[in-house]
Amino acid sequence: MGGMTAHPFDAPASQALLERALAVTPGGVNSPVRAFRAVGGTPRFMASGTGPYLTDVDGREYVDLVCSWGPMILGHGHPAVVEAVSAAVSQGFSFGTPSENEVALGEEIVARVEPVGQVRLVSSGTEATMSAIRLARGYTGRSLIVKFAGCYHGHVDSLLAQAGSGVATFALPDSAGVPKEMAAETIVLPFNDLAAVEEAFAARGSEIAAIITEASPGNMGVVPPAPGFTEGLRRITAAHGALLISDEVMTGFRCSAAGWYGLEGPYAAGAPDLFTFGKVMGGGFPAAAFGGRADVMALLAPVGPVYQAGTLSGNPVATAAGRATLQQCTPELYARLDEVADAITGALDTELGRAGVPHTIQRAGSMFSVFFRDGAVGNYDQARDQHVPAFAAFFHSMLSQGVYLPPSAFESWFVSGAHDDAAVDRIVSALPAAASAAAE
Ligand code: PLP
Repeated sequence: MGGMTAHPFDAPASQALLERALAVTPGGVNSPVRAFRAVGGTPRFMASGTGPYLTDVDGREYVDLVCSWGPMILGHGHPAVVEAVSAAVSQGFSFGTPSENEVALGEEIVARVEPVGQVRLVSSGTEATMSAIRLARGYTGRSLIVKFAGCYHGHVDSLLAQAGSGVATFALPDSAGVPKEMAAETIVLPFNDLAAVEEAFAARGSEIAAIITEASPGNMGVVPPAPGFTEGLRRITAAHGALLISDEVMTGFRCSAAGWYGLEGPYAAGAPDLFTFGKVMGGGFPAAAFGGRADVMALLAPVGPVYQAGTLSGNPVATAAGRATLQQCTPELYARLDEVADAITGALDTELGRAGVPHTIQRAGSMFSVFFRDGAVGNYDQARDQHVPAFAAFFHSMLSQGVYLPPSAFESWFVSGAHDDAAVDRIVSALPAAASAAAE
């Protein structure tokens, strides 16, 4: 089970665990991206992580370029985080009361992202975007939300809506189980297309509560906003009394100390009203947040009428991990992440070029991905217009050489401060064979 015939079973302990998992869990995984559906083969069950390396249950070591889909910016088991978590655990696990660690993490976030005056902590990025949208609706008294095709904001019902084509097309549900009435509250537009946004607002502007956008999308591969796009969203939303929600769950504290905003902002037209965060700010534990303008955040219960809550929100262990992680996110760390990304993308470009494989590599800070096609990618249609089988061949060659990539052509690769020269060399030396495999 679980393997496609092209990839004969070669990870016996993972395969055995997969079979146990399949008996109790749909697809054997607790989050669909972990399955190897897009590339075939047996998903590797990991037993441990140290620095830039993961070790699977078969005892094979991999250089990790997934980093838990973003959170592990310091690598696995960073001593400062281990120490902070151990200290927190020794004090108790969860109190269901306010505690100091959550205040400290809130302070770290507010100190880094200038337009964020107040934050509310939650446990996942999905909760952050779901709550930000409820808040935007509460603030504006409007229902419609604009999102962009190819942007993922977690599995919130109304945000699973996919692109139709054309402007102001009301989306059909992209997932079974999302009522069509709910999908109809979401307008899906092509990314990087300000004319489409203008047109949607000209038609329905007084009904639109917010635009939510990935600050720099990483969920269709890495597709940074074109110069002026975010600025344009700010201008249009402000003109129509709608809010702008910048989803920095992936980019926050990753692209820079202030996330994508730190690279592209401040904007002449003004900052986004609300931001969402997750991943890095939890350091590998469940912690996420939404925040922004203090006058908008003041609508949240218990101060205002927009309800939002969580039994484990601001959990003392998770917030200790997040705070310790953010404290290690120094200018030197970001410089190192960029250096590692430069080394890998440079070698990737060279080797794919040498093997004659059409490719385009795109970057947002140290986040990057490769599209198996020629020509820049600015939206989801272009991202999908690539040779996906080439990625699967590339992926399996890298895996067999001990490099763990995201098992999908539409995901960002993530590096960490623990990726030292030895780890980078292992990645680089695996590239020629993987590029040849992609060429076949
Ligand atoms: N927003 C963005 C941009 C994301 O990349 C993700 C997850 O990948 C989410 C929201 C959802 O976060 P979570 O998986 O923690 O619910």
